[in-house]
Formats: sequence, structure tokens, C-alpha cells
Amino acid sequence: MTDHNHPGTDAPLGALGGAEYEEFMALAAEEGFEADEIAGELAAATAGPLPVLAVVGRPNVGKSTLVNRILGRREAVVEDRPGVTRDRVTYEAEWSGRRFKVVDTGGWEQDVLGIQASVAAQAEFAIEAADAVVLVVDATVGATDTDEAVVRLLRRSGKPVVLCANKVDGPSSESDAAYLWSLGLGEPQPVSALHGRGTGDMLDKVLEVLPDAPRETFGTTLGGPRRIALIGRPNVGKSSLLNKVAGEERVVVDPMAGTTRDPVDELIELGGETWRFVDTAGIRRRVHLQDGADYYASLRTAAALGKAEAAVVLIDVTEPISVQDTRIITMTVDAGRALVIAYNKWDQLDDERRYYLEREIEQELVQVQWAPRVNISARTGRHMEKLVPAIETALAGWESRVPTGKLNAFLGEIVASHPHPVRGGKQPRILFGTQAGTRPPRFVLFASGFLEAGYRRFLERRLREEFGFEGTPIQVSVRVREKRGRKK
Ligand code: GDP
Ligand code: GDP
Repeated sequence: MTDHNHPGTDAPLGALGGAEYEEFMALAAEEGFEADEIAGELAAATAGPLPVLAVVGRPNVGKSTLVNRILGRREAVVEDRPGVTRDRVTYEAEWSGRRFKVVDTGGWEQDVLGIQASVAAQAEFAIEAADAVVLVVDATVGATDTDEAVVRLLRRSGKPVVLCANKVDGPSSESDAAYLWSLGLGEPQPVSALHGRGTGDMLDKVLEVLPDAPRETFGTTLGGPRRIALIGRPNVGKSSLLNKVAGEERVVVDPMAGTTRDPVDELIELGGETWRFVDTAGIRRRVHLQDGADYYASLRTAAALGKAEAAVVLIDVTEPISVQDTRIITMTVDAGRALVIAYNKWDQLDDERRYYLEREIEQELVQVQWAPRVNISARTGRHMEKLVPAIETALAGWESRVPTGKLNAFLGEIVASHPHPVRGGKQPRILFGTQAGTRPPRFVLFASGFLEAGYRRFLERRLREEFGFEGTPIQVSVRVREKRGRKK
């Protein structure tokens, strides 16, 4: 138990050190808040990365229904970030006081590769990205060949799996669930995702096997090589760039003694430093599929982002910037990774195309103007030397932090010079705030009323103008509280 009356002694709040915590609490008290009112909010915002649970299975077994059931109405984080198209697959959930992320694979395209292959691809991704997996099987149908193929993948992965025997709507169908022992995944959990029957018991089982933190926590790699993902749609030049940077200088020995080297990553020395390029096996092992190549590509992108601290997103300058490009950038921003945009094939650029390219960048990528940009050619090696400084800049932004005092001085100025517009006779006001976390920077603001999207965007812009944050998404969550009378 944390004693909120004496926060200075064991400030539980991540980035907030003892003295700063007290400073923050003093600000809160001045606005009429009690420590225990805001401690919960802050703790939520400062928690480290959450473990990830993936829900996989054949189409129509009830994955989406189950995910909705798990989320209830408690989908906690509603962040207002200016986004292009969003394809969100990860949600925050809470059960028995523990928070975790749920990857919903239910909405994914199923038919590009044929059912069996796409379900397998989906499970493969889940294995990469998740810390534990719920395999949903339709108990009224029983185990199919596809289910068994997924079981093999899951078993090979060694990740913890909970078997959900779904559509057990009443006691009479519980025997259906028992048949699923044959899958060899242990006890099937009889569930009716539709009615909620058994989901609590199933989630208890999930929490037993779900680790407290994701396997890839960046904290544990401090001092080790930084993790970089090279991503971009097919044919933008990822493998060319990888070959170029790897060149002769490929490092073979992992300096992190005693750790198992992930064979899908490569350690490459660049600019006098060793970097871990994650998931390069996925780049080198090209999937030559007419259909479904894009599908695989986006699975790979998601997996690489999951492991990386920074992403270099490649854009092919010889072609118009496409929805696929902006989607990959949105995925990076949503994943909260540092971002560098590399405009590749610069050797092929003529004046006319260049004119249109700059217009397209202004239109399509206006939301990520903060990302360092490099104009490169993986073929000729043009501006390769600019890559490392750009990545370093982005990582520095990703890790930077504004002290609470400075932030509140800035917020005070904003409130005075650019107050929120009056709405319905009331004027929402930012009361105080703190940067609760880094990697990426996360702010929690307390306000007296709902802050409109436009005002939040204005705030983000001003935060960047004032404090930099080059190359990193920033997350701002606003907690609305009516200010109460000050207590005596
Ligand atoms: P997904 O494709 O795996 O995401 O499956 P959905 O969640 O979309 O569910 C497919 C169908 O099964 C829908 O018509 C659901 O209403 C139904 N369904 C899901 N869970 C249950 C359940 O527990 N019992 C019954 N009877 N139907 C269910
Ligand atoms: P990936 O699918 O993203 O890994 O792309 P590849 O590296 O396989 O490159 C796709 C095609 O673009 C290949 O034919 C490459 O030779 C070509 N390519 C890659 N980088 C450049 C570049 O900087 N300039 C030119 N002109 N072609 C390039």
C-alpha cells in the first residue's frame, strides 16, 4: 500500500522523482485536489509498458465478441492525436486491477491468402507481438484442421496459451468444451463470449500466465544496442538499405554477454556505434506471393515496431505517396516509436517529380512534420552518413523530459495568453500537468472541463515549439475534474 500522505518518501510515479513529486502535489493542492484523487490517474499514466495479450482463432469463432467482452466499457485510453487513417488493433484492458493490452485480430482481412494461411499468418504475428495468447475455438464445431495448425505454431513458440472454448452458452454444452482437451493445450475454458458466461474465470487463467511486463522492455536493454526497425511498403528499398548499411561492417558478436541473440535481428555498426536492426530476417526472407504480400508486409511491420525503439520509414520518391505509406507512419506514431522518414531512390528524382513530391509531403505528412527527414539512395549510398544523426535526434526527442516546474510555467503562460474558447458559458481551463513518462513523452494534464481537439492540437504544437521533441510522437491525456472548494 502506498501512503499518499507521505508521497515524498516513496513516490511511486515513474519519471517523477521525490522532490518533483512534492512540487507536483503542491500544485495539485493549490487547485483544490487531494493527493489520493490524482495518484491513481498519475500511476496509470506513468506505468511502464503493459504486457500484451493476443486473441487468435479462425473467423467466426467469436474473437471480436470476446475482445469486446474483455474490454467492457472500460477502454481506458482515449487519446486525441491527429491521425491519418487509424487501424487500431490494440486496446487497453483491465481485469482484477491489472492492466494489459489486447490485440484484436478479429478485424483483419481473412480471405487474401485463403483461410488456413491467413489464420496461420495471424497466429504467427501474435506469437511475435504478444506475451500470452488466447486461442478461441468454437466448441460447438470442435477442433478443425485450421485450429490444429494454429496449435502447432503456438506450441513451437513457447508462449503461454489459454484455450477458450467459446459458444458454451449453457451447462448443457459444457461437454462440447471437454472435447477440446484433444488439442493438447491443457484445460479448455468454457466461455460464452456473447453472454459473458465463464469469461471471468478465463481471464483469471490468463492473468496467471501473463507476465507483468512485455518481454521486450527497453529498460532492460539500456546500455545495449539501440533497436531500429526498417519499415515501409514492399519495394521501397528496405533490403537494399539493409545491405548498404550492413556492407562489410556487419558485427557478428553480440556484446550483450549471456543473452540469447535473436536470430532475426542483425547487429550493425554505423557511425561508430552498434545498432540492433530488428526483424531483419523478415526483410531478407522476401515473401514472393502475388496475393497477400501486403498482408504479410503489414504483419511484419507491426512485429518490427513492437520490438523497436525507433523506426526508419522508407518512402519511394519515384512514386506518389500512398495510403500504405501514411498507414505505416500512423502505425509508428500509434506504437509510440521514434520516427525518421527516409526518402529513398533520390538518384531517380527529376525536377518535375520533385515538385510533386514536396506537395505530397505537405499534404499527406503534415502531421509528422516533426520527424527528421533524410533524402537517400540505397543504391548509390547518397547521404547514408545522415541516417545515424537523424536516428540519434529522434531517440533523443523520444527520451526527453520536461521538469514539472518548467512545464507548469509554460502551461500558465498558455492559459493566460491563449485561453480555451468559452463553450456553453463555461471556459475549460488547464489547471496543472506533468510529463509523466518518456519513450515516448507522455503528458497528463488536469483540466476543469473538456478540452476540444483543436485546442489539444494547439497545445501539442506549442509544446513542440517550446521544448523540441523532434522525431517523437507525444501523447497528451487530459483528465477532467471539476475544481472543488478548497478544504480547510
Ligand atoms: P470473429 O470472426 O472470431 O471475430 O467472430 P465474431 O466475434 O464476429 O463472432 C462470430 C459470430 O459468432 C457472431 O454472430 C457472434 O454473435 C457469434 N458468437 C460469438 N460468441 C458467441 C457465443 O459465446 N455464443 C454464441 N451462441 N454465439 C457467439
Ligand atoms: P524492399 O521490398 O523494400 O526490401 O525493396 P528492395 O530493397 O528489394 O528494392 C526494391 C527495388 O528498388 C529493387 O529493384 C532495388 O534495386 C530498387 N532500389 C532500392 N533502393 C534504390 C535506390 O536508392 N535507387 C534506385 N534507383 N533503386 C533502388
